[in-house]
Amino acid sequence: MILLDGLKISKKRNEELKDKIDKLILANKRQPKLIIIQVGNNPASNSYIKSKIKNSTLVGIDASLLKYEEDITEEELLNKISLLNLDHSIDGILVQLPLPKHLNERKILDSINYLKDVDGFHTYNSGLLFQKQRAIHAATPEGIINLLNEYKIKVEGLNAVVIGRSNIVGFPISKLLLDLNATVTICHSKTKNLKFHTKHADLIIAAIGKPLFLTKDMVKKGVIIIDVGINRLEEKLVGDVDFENVKTKASYITPVPKGVGPMTVNALLENLYKLYLIHENL
Ligand code: NAP
Repeated sequence: MILLDGLKISKKRNEELKDKIDKLILANKRQPKLIIIQVGNNPASNSYIKSKIKNSTLVGIDASLLKYEEDITEEELLNKISLLNLDHSIDGILVQLPLPKHLNERKILDSINYLKDVDGFHTYNSGLLFQKQRAIHAATPEGIINLLNEYKIKVEGLNAVVIGRSNIVGFPISKLLLDLNATVTICHSKTKNLKFHTKHADLIIAAIGKPLFLTKDMVKKGVIIIDVGINRLEEKLVGDVDFENVKTKASYITPVPKGVGPMTVNALLENLYKLYLIHENL
């Protein structure tokens, strides 16, 4: 079994990105800039934001947090975003999810200029992905593809089973795998006999949000496992995969933490850099 070490790979890629940004700064270019918007004080969001800002700073991206009270109105938030859209020094705007219930998430995400949509959640960017056009991809699916590439895992022809069909993980990763010529099956909460599908899978992407959901009896020997889940279980972070038991059958497997999580942050920073290059005509 080979551990897909997302932390190690993300550090390597972050260093490569830092080198590119250092060169820009030496050439007197402006610094790439990311704005993170947080509404309220969700503890999980606090920790994700902390990691995004810390890693941005490490690679030379100027990242700032704009934090608003839980009761901000939709109109106020939309106004703030439209001002950020107009500011030419800003390359990316990220609205940390989840938002409080009274805010229309789709409307807020689509109010971001799609050329500042560093998360790749804008309807236009999702549409580009589904038209196989050059686009900013959602960071988690992009990070997963980067991780597979770094380990030289070819997905062409593999039976890939994606468990989960969310707009931010399951659905876009399915399309990216399809574009790489995998044969993709998308499973969800209404799938009948999930085990039948997972047992036949060469590659499983688990993006469910249920701790230790995928068990050893559900997979075949030699399977490649990508565990996207982040769940808190008895004060520990665990994935959607019963790692300790499934790893005995897997050929490759990601750990949680230190697997997909850091690759997601790296892909986000790489997205910001791609947007910066577009803005600077580089
Ligand atoms: P989500 O929007 O809640 O989607 C969960 C998906 O799992 C849904 O499509 C749901 O099916 C499916 N599902 C639920 N129960 C199921 C069951 N019993 N059998 C089969 N499918 C089932 O979650 P998400 O945003 O995609 O996130 C999934 C997990 O990944 C969460 O733990 C989240 O914290 C984590 N995550 C991690 C990262 C990272 O960087 N590592 C990034 C994003 C998310 P239906 O569509 O039928 O409801």
